[in-house]
Amino acid sequence: MAVGRVVTEGLRLSSRLALVTGGGSGIGRAVCQQFASEGATVAVADIDEDSAEETLKSLPCDEQQHSVFLTDVTSPQSVHSLVASIQTQFSRPPSIVVNCAGITMDSLLLKMEAETFERVLRVNLMGTFLVIQAASKALIANGSRRGSIVNLGSIVGKVGNLGQANYTASKAGVVALTKTSAKELARYVYGIRCNAILPGFIDTPMAAKVPPKVLEKVVQLVPMGRLGDASEVASVCAFLASDDSSYITGTSLEVTGGLFM
Ligand code: NAP
Repeated sequence: MAVGRVVTEGLRLSSRLALVTGGGSGIGRAVCQQFASEGATVAVADIDEDSAEETLKSLPCDEQQHSVFLTDVTSPQSVHSLVASIQTQFSRPPSIVVNCAGITMDSLLLKMEAETFERVLRVNLMGTFLVIQAASKALIANGSRRGSIVNLGSIVGKVGNLGQANYTASKAGVVALTKTSAKELARYVYGIRCNAILPGFIDTPMAAKVPPKVLEKVVQLVPMGRLGDASEVASVCAFLASDDSSYITGTSLEVTGGLFM
């Protein structure tokens, strides 16, 4: 065996090609790392190319080159060229897709500008739709009959959260979008599963924007008494991406340390 070569045969995601949006930071980066460690080739997509390159550098490297794709998930053109470029580079569409790209723009409902509401819906909900649609079309055209899509919702999409009318609405929408996608894509000729993960409060740059006092109060409400780690979401993603979850579609898995159970 060549020195520095990574052995991937026998791993749960070996020979799989995975697209991860928002792969430059937080949960998306942890998902890229987890998938690569389980044998997948990873397409790291993010609007921030430098952070995506940082993720790429952190991945175990071997002859199955991982790659970075500069992408804005709110742009149909950008998402179309993302999927087309992946197919050109790897000669196949990704059979695993994880929608991690997301933003918050918090403001109390009575003060929230319409543009602030719309922007968060565009990234979190429409972006997820565009990626699901483009990737599914490519997989179906390829006749793969084996795909897994994982969307990042949020537990606050279920229960609401002060200052997050836009974010909570977008994440509730992600759950409905996941179920509809699951219903439409499940049949045998397509063979694509679609599930959501609803994280609680996870220690990432997004959570770091929450004022420390608010975060302290949240932690007191978490039965497990701590924030989650991005790797703890990534391992659930790997389960949903893999054939270990082959009869699971349309579901939402909560990764919250027991918060709002
Ligand atoms: P994060 O660290 O902020 O990472 C999100 C990534 O998405 C960033 O690299 C961001 O780039 C990128 N992004 C933003 N807009 C984009 C666009 N238009 N096109 C492509 N990429 C874009 O956030 P995270 O905490 O890892 O969250 C990942 C997902 O989990 C999100 O959907 C989030 O809503 C969800 N989630 C997070 C938590 C939590 O507590 N952290 C809880 C529940 C759900 P920029 O940094 O340049 O914006």
